[in-house]
Amino acid sequence: MKAFVLDHATSVKGALHSLKQGGVAIAGGTNLVDLMKLQVVAPDRVISLRRTELGDITADGEGLNIGALVTNADCAADMRVRGNWPLLAKAILAGASPQLRNRATTGGNLCQRTRCGYFYDTTQACNKRDPGSGCAARNGFNRIHAVLGTSDSCIATYPGDMAIAMLALDAVVLVEGAAGAREIPIAAFHRTPGDDPSRDNVLEAGELITGVRLPAPTGGVQIYRKVRDRASYAFALVSLALDLTMEEGRIARCALAFGGLGTVPWRDPAVEQVLIGETPNPALFAKAAEVLLMDAQGFGKNDFKIPLVARALAATLNEATRTGRA
Ligand code: SF4
Repeated sequence: MKAFVLDHATSVKGALHSLKQGGVAIAGGTNLVDLMKLQVVAPDRVISLRRTELGDITADGEGLNIGALVTNADCAADMRVRGNWPLLAKAILAGASPQLRNRATTGGNLCQRTRCGYFYDTTQACNKRDPGSGCAARNGFNRIHAVLGTSDSCIATYPGDMAIAMLALDAVVLVEGAAGAREIPIAAFHRTPGDDPSRDNVLEAGELITGVRLPAPTGGVQIYRKVRDRASYAFALVSLALDLTMEEGRIARCALAFGGLGTVPWRDPAVEQVLIGETPNPALFAKAAEVLLMDAQGFGKNDFKIPLVARALAATLNEATRTGRA
């Protein structure tokens, strides 16, 4: 690892001041330290946020503010989260390992980088790590890669679980920077690669995530389904976060987000519109999958994700609508 200077910020104000001098912020370090060891990133300065005031979960009207430093373990164990937004707790617990969840934070989790193997291997062409060098994954081992939101430059999948649940829950990312505070709906936080895959999200230089706000709970049936190669400690091949309400035998409300499928956490309002107002049945679920996958493109080894997500969607909708009717 390249030598670097470590600063300990003791407040958000101090961290923002430090970031202005250059460097990168670190919280749990569960992804950044790996990237530094492999020299995928090699900052001269690292600014630790762990002594700042961002470690609390607080009520926000009927919603909840989750500080950027709240660990994944603490968030998933919080009784308010478990009671009102169980989808978030389930998604977090489906990710990583207990040791990692004890260390990984809410803000850091949102900023984690892709797990594309070529991104982590500095001998390989990768437009995300080294813009203009090419994309070894397109014709390489692309089993875990995206089938939606890809570009000629990059087909890397967004890897996380927590953000998929937050997307279905309409969370808002709270950000501060030199120009002040701003709020970014999570649907607008991550960037599809386009012709600049080097930027994963819309954070500007010097900006920090300070927290995530969850709006009031919906009271719907909430399911997180993750399909992966082994039952523990594996990234999603495909995952679904569903928050659904039934009324008089019909789907009255439906929020549906997907992981493992797109270059960003994926939500398509057209899919939800197919379902809302309808009586659940297999043909309806198949139609929703057809709309979701209209523009899907496989790259060889990840072609299986297309039929896989259609089956996972049908199973999840079937489970939710049966539960919602009970
Ligand atoms: Fe790099 Fe993206 Fe291609 Fe992976 S898919 S090698 S991250 S450009």
